[in-house]
Amino acid sequence: MKIVDVGAVLLQPIPWVLVKVRTDEGITGIGEAYHGAGVHHIAVDERLTQRALIGQDPRNVDKLFRDMKSSMSASGYYQGAVMSAISGIEMALWDITGQAIGVPIWQLLGGAYRDSIRVYSDCHAGDEDDNPESWVAKAKEVEARGFDAIKFDIDPRPDRRDHYNRTMSNSDIAFHIEVVTALREALHPNTDLLIDAHWAYAPHDILKVAYAFEALNLMWLEDPIPAENVAALKEVKAATRTPICTGENLYTRHGFRELVETQATDIISPDLAKAGGLSEGRRIADLADIYYIPISPHNICSPIGTVAMSHTCAASPNFQVLEFHHLDNKLWNSLTVERDLIVNGRIPLPQTPGLGVALDEEVARGAAREDLGFFGAE
Ligand code: MG
Repeated sequence: MKIVDVGAVLLQPIPWVLVKVRTDEGITGIGEAYHGAGVHHIAVDERLTQRALIGQDPRNVDKLFRDMKSSMSASGYYQGAVMSAISGIEMALWDITGQAIGVPIWQLLGGAYRDSIRVYSDCHAGDEDDNPESWVAKAKEVEARGFDAIKFDIDPRPDRRDHYNRTMSNSDIAFHIEVVTALREALHPNTDLLIDAHWAYAPHDILKVAYAFEALNLMWLEDPIPAENVAALKEVKAATRTPICTGENLYTRHGFRELVETQATDIISPDLAKAGGLSEGRRIADLADIYYIPISPHNICSPIGTVAMSHTCAASPNFQVLEFHHLDNKLWNSLTVERDLIVNGRIPLPQTPGLGVALDEEVARGAAREDLGFFGAE
């Protein structure tokens, strides 16, 4: 079997980047790359496709992953948009391989530890008036729809005077403690609550909040401080009993090495649509597992990327929970032939060969950016 073509499409309004890999035996694989400037162009760039993919056997997934990494430069040291494109193609190669052999991808990643994948629903925040009642109402609604893990953001509020010094106003500290306490008290004790701080704060200020959260038994406090300084994060983690989660902007197992080896976080959140794809996700999970660190992948993908990630989640012993953002997004709910992919806050593990879901081509064509073509066709 040989690869004959690689195509990409950019959907809207959310810029989902899907890639298709076609073979000479009629099997086509699909994957999804984390969006970013030019990712849909990079996925079909001839330096990548001609040097690493066209004419190659798609079933040599790990070898082709390395060949893609070295196709654009001898160093092979790529992060950013290039690694995102490679991640989407890698998923498509697994889809082809699973179809060719007749098994789901998770079987090829070592088999399943679980038969459904727990997802958490990201609710962002309450209404614009910022009253705690609106946050609680949203949380209760999502819980009633079957989710037992729910996330909210504690971003700086509009009255903030100066964000460059990363400090929190006393009113922000008080509000975030008040609203998260209200959320915790309103939800069922077995519903997990997750809070994201989006890298906004200085250690000493976010710790004031983290200390108050200790009584609330959060699943995690995500990205409490800026992402660049692992030593500073390690200090934050050591200072509070509130679990810390981070890692959504790191690439490949090499990007996670310092974070994991220094045990600067309690939980990692690699985004497999940018961090290197499904095999690399499993390797990152194994690295973390040595330190008993769970893996809870970041995910803002369409159902294609979300289901692709579910295979690595199934095959990784230390998987905890997978992110999900699109509860009432019509396109998310109609982009695949199969519907209702999430049942009671879980993705039942696909049982058919390859990825296990198929793109609804008509729906995808309707959402595609027309000026950029549709998987290589105009
Ligand atoms: Mg986040």
